[in-house]
Parts: sequence; structure tokens; C-alpha cells
Amino acid sequence: MMGVKAKCKNCGNDAIADQFKLHNALRMMVCPSCYSGKGPKAKEATENKVESKPQGPPKPAGWDKEDDYLERMVAIKKNQNQSYFSRIAGTDFVKCTCSSCKYNFRYHPVKKMPPACPYCNADIPRLKMSELE
Ligand SMILES: [Zn+2]
Ligand SMILES: [Zn+2]
Repeated sequence: MMGVKAKCKNCGNDAIADQFKLHNALRMMVCPSCYSGKGPKAKEATENKVESKPQGPPKPAGWDKEDDYLERMVAIKKNQNQSYFSRIAGTDFVKCTCSSCKYNFRYHPVKKMPPACPYCNADIPRLKMSELE
């Protein structure tokens, strides 16, 4: 008895119905050439490949701006430290100029006294003695 021909739903070609096999990925009966992968590429498989194409996550907006901003802040702080203190010759004290109110006062960098600006209570930046002349 000759095999009955049936149309393959995947490639549209006629093939012996007895030779159709269940394709795992397509979840349907396909002709022998489709099953062996020699026939036209299965539609679903191709689509899946396109969908799974890797796309890197988009960079967060303003990333570069933030980076610039931080760098500028570091530069500003450095400048502040340089102009904030000046050594008082012959003493352990330094002359401190408050960056908020421009008040001048004596500051002891080892004891860290006073802990804040005596006039406006603003924070005193950390002083590295090596940054002084
Ligand atoms: Zn086929
Ligand atoms: Zn002050």
C-alpha cells in the first residue's frame, strides 16, 4: 500500500504521511526534510532567534552629567581647602576662613578645635597639614 501524501504545515510541500514526525520545537507534525532540518527553516524557530537577540540595557540618563558634577565637586573642595587655612607662624594653630560667612578664626588642626565655625557654626573642612605651606 502506497503511503498517503499529506501537506507539511511547515514548508507546504507534500510528503508521505507515514513519514511525518512530531517536531519538538514546532509542536506539530512535519515532513521528514523539515524534521531533519534540511527543509526551510521553521517559522517559529526563526522568530525566536530574532527575539532573543541581546540588547544591552540602556545607559541611565544623565550618567555623564553626574560624573562631571562629581569631578567638579572634588575640584571645588580641593580649592576650598587650599584657601581655607593658612599657617600661623610659630604656633600649632592655623588661620581659618569660614567658607560660609568669611569669618576668620584660629583653628587647632590636631585637636580639631573649634569643631565648627564659632560665628555661624558651619562645618570646618578636614585639614591635611601637608596641604599647608
Ligand atoms: Zn516540511
Ligand atoms: Zn562661619
